[in-house]
Amino acid sequence: MNTHIPKIGIVSLGCPKALVDSERILTRLRAEGYEISPSYEGADAVIVNTCGFIDSAKQESFDAIGEALTENGKVIVTGCLGVDEDGIREVHPGVLAVSGPHQYESVMEAVHQASPPLHNPHMDLIPAEGIKLTPRHYAYLKISEGCNQTCTFCIIPSMRGKLRSRPAGEVLKEAENLALSGVKEILLVSQDTGAYGSDLRYEESDFYGKSVRTKMYDLCNALGDQKVWTRLHYVYPYPHVDDVIPLMAEGKILPYLDIPFQHASPRILKLMKRPGNQIELLERIKKWREICPEITIRSTFVVGFPGETEEDFEYLLDWLEKAQLDRVGCFKYEAVEGAAANDLPDPVDEDVKEQRWNRLMEFQRQISDEKMQAKIGKVFDVIIDEVDEEGAVGRTKGDAPEIDGEVYINGELDLKPGDIVKVKAEHAEDYDIWGSLVDA
Ligand code: SF4
Repeated sequence: MNTHIPKIGIVSLGCPKALVDSERILTRLRAEGYEISPSYEGADAVIVNTCGFIDSAKQESFDAIGEALTENGKVIVTGCLGVDEDGIREVHPGVLAVSGPHQYESVMEAVHQASPPLHNPHMDLIPAEGIKLTPRHYAYLKISEGCNQTCTFCIIPSMRGKLRSRPAGEVLKEAENLALSGVKEILLVSQDTGAYGSDLRYEESDFYGKSVRTKMYDLCNALGDQKVWTRLHYVYPYPHVDDVIPLMAEGKILPYLDIPFQHASPRILKLMKRPGNQIELLERIKKWREICPEITIRSTFVVGFPGETEEDFEYLLDWLEKAQLDRVGCFKYEAVEGAAANDLPDPVDEDVKEQRWNRLMEFQRQISDEKMQAKIGKVFDVIIDEVDEEGAVGRTKGDAPEIDGEVYINGELDLKPGDIVKVKAEHAEDYDIWGSLVDA
């Protein structure tokens, strides 16, 4: 009788959305009795979940596949880069199988071929919340796949297809399972969180006999009853985003909005095929802050988009000055194979892109600095992420894991990940805060 328990390794690259795919694959593997190997050595096969969004991410994925082939030899490729099977096989002919994003069935089929499962019903137990790659106290929850927008720099709609939302009842059930398993913070992710449910005409869905519309507002409202921190990521600036701001003010969801504006110049936004009324947007941002003064607005921008002039760039800086955003990420435009923007005239020189990136980051750093200094002396709710010999490290409601700042509470060794405590900020630098506990 075969008693070898098959072990599978997994390398997860790319964005939080890809992480969710990896978590689903891990859940399936564990449900079928596979063990997860933490290293190449000893793994019966290795799954590489790739990212193909921009050329540098593609290169990283190709390198990861190469490394897994060298170190282990049995490699199953999945994820965004997997849509280009020919390209992968040309560089790495030795891979066992290639599949695209969220093709869990194909991945499992390839795993079965590489190393058949050991059937043991007692091992098939799996916690309802699945297996998570993130620490236990926070989890990414994917609410939809795909996107109906046509931003010219982006190939996600052609890779991931049109928007397909999960019914609200299903998402709420998953959130409930996560909360029951000890998760304290849920990060809603998708390609376009604001469009959630539009493909289903916002249909009603059942959650314990209660009807909930499959719509961002209704989902957030219902999640607010589950007593977990709910954070919104990747929200396209639709007008109805305004509706969720009162939910933030009421404390139902976190006062945090990750809303990629990409640019401010109306001319560039038009070339990007993105909504172009940034003056109106400034008014909306002002109103959001009136309704919810605590709100943290995070956004990302692209500099060096084809046709961007010095005037367009200065318009962007001027807009940032007025918008006073709390957190800003910036990317230099990179041509992505298959993107419509590649056909636009007037590409921007690499050194000009670099200069503009530096100027924008420095400009925003000054805005952020002022905002951070204004936090000193204030008290924040902080969720603890880790505790080491020096003390505890956590985040405020305005800080998403991995991308925003941290709060250091030196000397506090009795806390544990997932605790939510009150911290008075005593010192702030760049994006981080140092502080001490205050009584709740
Ligand atoms: S909304 Fe986001 S995912 Fe959709 S096309 Fe635009 S950038 Fe791509």
